[in-house]
Amino acid sequence: MLRDSPSPSDNTMAQPFDRRTFLHGSLLTAGALSYWPRVVFGQVQGQRLLARPFELSQVRLRPGAALDAMNVNRRHLLAYDPDRLLHMFRLTAGLPSSAEPLGGWEAPNNELRGHFTGHYLTACALSFAQADDKALQERGDAIVAELAKCQAKFGNGYLSAFPEELFDRLRANQPAWAPFYTLHKIMAGMLDMHVLAGNAQARDVLQGMSTWTAQWVRSIDDALMNRILEREYGGMNEVLYNFAELTKEDRWRELAQRFNRSRIFEPLAAGRDELQGLHVNTTIPQVIGAARGYELTGNTNLHDCSDYFWHTVTERRSYCTGGTSNGESWNAPPGKLAAELSGYTQECCVTYNMQKLTRHVFGWTTDARAADFYERAYYNGILGVQHPRDGSKLYYVPLQSGFWKLFGTSMHDFWCCTGSMAEAFSKLGDSIYFKDDDGLYVNLFVPSEVTWQEKGLRLVQDTTFPESDRVTLTVRASAPRRAQLRIRVPYWTIGGSASLNGKQLEGFATPSSYFVLDRTWRDGDRVELRLPMRLHAAPMPDDPTVQAVMYGPIVLAGKLGTAGLTAETLRAEPTKPRTVPEYKSEPVAAPVIRASSSDPASWLKASGPLEFRTVGQQNELTLVPLNRIFDERYAVYWKVAV
Ligand SMILES: [Zn+2]
Repeated sequence: MLRDSPSPSDNTMAQPFDRRTFLHGSLLTAGALSYWPRVVFGQVQGQRLLARPFELSQVRLRPGAALDAMNVNRRHLLAYDPDRLLHMFRLTAGLPSSAEPLGGWEAPNNELRGHFTGHYLTACALSFAQADDKALQERGDAIVAELAKCQAKFGNGYLSAFPEELFDRLRANQPAWAPFYTLHKIMAGMLDMHVLAGNAQARDVLQGMSTWTAQWVRSIDDALMNRILEREYGGMNEVLYNFAELTKEDRWRELAQRFNRSRIFEPLAAGRDELQGLHVNTTIPQVIGAARGYELTGNTNLHDCSDYFWHTVTERRSYCTGGTSNGESWNAPPGKLAAELSGYTQECCVTYNMQKLTRHVFGWTTDARAADFYERAYYNGILGVQHPRDGSKLYYVPLQSGFWKLFGTSMHDFWCCTGSMAEAFSKLGDSIYFKDDDGLYVNLFVPSEVTWQEKGLRLVQDTTFPESDRVTLTVRASAPRRAQLRIRVPYWTIGGSASLNGKQLEGFATPSSYFVLDRTWRDGDRVELRLPMRLHAAPMPDDPTVQAVMYGPIVLAGKLGTAGLTAETLRAEPTKPRTVPEYKSEPVAAPVIRASSSDPASWLKASGPLEFRTVGQQNELTLVPLNRIFDERYAVYWKVAV
């Protein structure tokens, strides 16, 4: 989340970058405006998706790490007091509230207040869809009803935990953190409560908020709007495009287009990476909006922009974990990552939003490489950023050696990532399966089952992956049905194989493609897969002597001990307005690795399931999955001397 004030600390080790400059970026020249045609609803042509993800309500997780993590998150969500989440909304609307105010970025004097309540509604809606969690559905329903009362009190469709005056300041180019960012979270929460949890009132509230937004934007000319769009605004374009699709009303589509940021989109659509210097998580949600806009309008500029963006970020700006950003920005040209390691790498919101964008890209292309990336982010950017004990979340995943995961403190942080990760852990079954009219894609190897209603088929996936390289897919069919089963063969496997009902199948697909079984499926048909994993290096593109080690899709982290880590240093202090967490201890150095070859198997030996020991080094170290390291210092990237 972009801050608009410098950190209060001058501690260089712990100091996040000063990001004030992002707020005052250069303005768009008027000439660029004509670049983006205003596409009207009548011009929309046909379906642009080759595949669609299964609805969350059709996918259920089965016992395993993902289900465990989802349940930790659900318990955490239920621990929030709705009256506290509503407190500042009520006071701002002039309604009484005696609840204890929340802290951190939800504190009464914080200009982002209310954003987490929006995330919370989305998380409630997702939890209902993903796990049939009726308690969280009811929780969401109750909050929507109370927010509707606040909106009615405002009387003009406005709904926020801060007064409209922040938007006046935004228009006047005066300090205001990110009013539309916060509004977007609440609007997205309402949309999700309606679409995923069947709440009719949430649609009415969203209609009111959209109407207020249209009214606010109406008096603003394009030049002024471009200046306003320099301030972080979340995915206002995305939520309005989605609302346009829901209502089939042109006016929301046109309003969404007012939130397309041409200054950023134009070079991307032309295939130019001018991302250096940009705030990462300001940019990605805007590009997701572009992707959604393409799907709904057919504007190929929006396609080219988001498609190129996805490629340049995933191929040239991402760490082996699937994360990107350092100090929340892109500080270097594409392909320059070796010097971009700190305690503030890989903001969690960024990984989450890149996954969202990846879903679109996969739908347009069914390219296995998009699913490969999604898997990379799933295991190394999402699963390990929630503390398994209490459900608290990370802001950053530090990739400079010797740091540790600095978790927040419940009710006292409410960072952007606290909200995004509350959503992420509510939908861990998302994007495991996609479909088109003829076939079903198995993209992730996660214990789960999916119901394909149109075909009368159910597919059950049993696996202990990644502990094991074996996956069993069992078909449940009310009657024999023909369909294609398309199984992703990941980039990291070598020598995979498959059998059908116990009989070995000839041939297999090459890495980063699909193994396709086209047949008439009968109840009880079983496909057994073997996807062998191996150790492999993930070198930095600009310095191959700096490298991480992966086992299959899993990034390994070396355990560097707990020296200097206490209850105080392991948790971020209650966050003050507009600050990000600070490390209260120095990172420790990681040893240089002496290797006899570039193959990490030359300096690592398996010592247990997903556990490796260094060999031939001065001090032996143990490496385990990054997503299982908690409350301990670690190293992901090593200096390797061959
Ligand atoms: Zn964040």
